[in-house]
Amino acid sequence: MKFELIELQEDQIRFLLRGVSAAFANGIRRACMSEVPALAMDDISLYENTSVLFDEQISLRLGLVPLQAEDLDMFSRPEECQCKGEGCPGCRVDFMLSAEGPGLVYSKDVQFTDPGVKPAFGKIPIVVLGEGEKLVIEGFATKRVGRDHSKWQAGTLCGYKNLPSIEIGAACNGCGKCIEVCPRDVIVLEEGRAKATNILECSLCKLCTEACEARAIKISPVLDSFVVSIESGGSMPAKELVARASLEIRKRAEDLDAKLAELS
Ligand code: SF4
Ligand code: SF4
Ligand SMILES: [Zn+2]
Repeated sequence: MKFELIELQEDQIRFLLRGVSAAFANGIRRACMSEVPALAMDDISLYENTSVLFDEQISLRLGLVPLQAEDLDMFSRPEECQCKGEGCPGCRVDFMLSAEGPGLVYSKDVQFTDPGVKPAFGKIPIVVLGEGEKLVIEGFATKRVGRDHSKWQAGTLCGYKNLPSIEIGAACNGCGKCIEVCPRDVIVLEEGRAKATNILECSLCKLCTEACEARAIKISPVLDSFVVSIESGGSMPAKELVARASLEIRKRAEDLDAKLAELS
C-alpha cells in the first residue's frame, strides 16, 4: 500500500491510497464513522425548563454537541469499566447547565466537572430563553462509538472514490465542449488541445465523454487506488481520527488472529 497526503486541516484530511481494495478503503471510512470512540452527553435530568422547547428537544440538542477530551483514553466505555456500568469517574463525566433569560443558551454554557472535557464548539445554540425563563439541567456524558448511536460518531463526512484516469487522445480537435460541461474545472485548453489538470477533483461523471463528438476523451477509475476524504465532527483532529480508526481495524484483525491460533 502507498499513502500520499493530499490535504490536511484540523478537521479534514484527504489522502490517496494506492494498491488497496475498495473493501479496505471502505473499512477505513466505516471505522472513522462507527468504531472510533467519542464522548457525548448521554443522561440528562431537567430540574427546570420554562423555555419554549420541550424537554426532549433540549436533550436531543445537548446529545448532539460534539465534546472534546484532553485525554479520551482516560475514560472507559461503561460496559468495559471496572464499575461494570454502574457509573464512576472512569466512565462518565458529570455536567450542569443553569441559565436564566433573556438570552441565548450556547453549548459553552454547559459546565463539566472534569476541566479536561468541553464542547468542541462553544457557539452551538441550544435554546432562546425569554424574560424570566429558566433552564436547570444536570447529567453526565459517556464514551461510546457511532455504532451505538450517531451522537458518538467521531467522523461525520467520510467517503472515498476511485482515483480517476483521464486520457485525451490524438483525435482531440480543441473544440472545448468538454471544458464547458465539466462541473469541476478539471480540463483546460492548452495549445489547441484539451488537457486534464486537477485530476483529483474529477468526479468520474463522464459528462465530458458524452460531450466529446470526436470521442477523444476516455475516463476510467483506477481500480486499486482511492481518494479518501475524512471529516471529524470536532471531538478530535482528523489525523487522530484516521489513526484511531486504523488502530480499531488492527485490534479486530489481532483478535481474529488470536482466535485462529487457538484452533491450531
Ligand atoms: S470535447 Fe473532445 S475534441 Fe473537444 S476539446 Fe474536449 S476532448 Fe478535445
Ligand atoms: S468525468 Fe466529469 S468531472 Fe471528470 S473531467 Fe469529465 S466532466 Fe469533469
Ligand atoms: Zn465506571
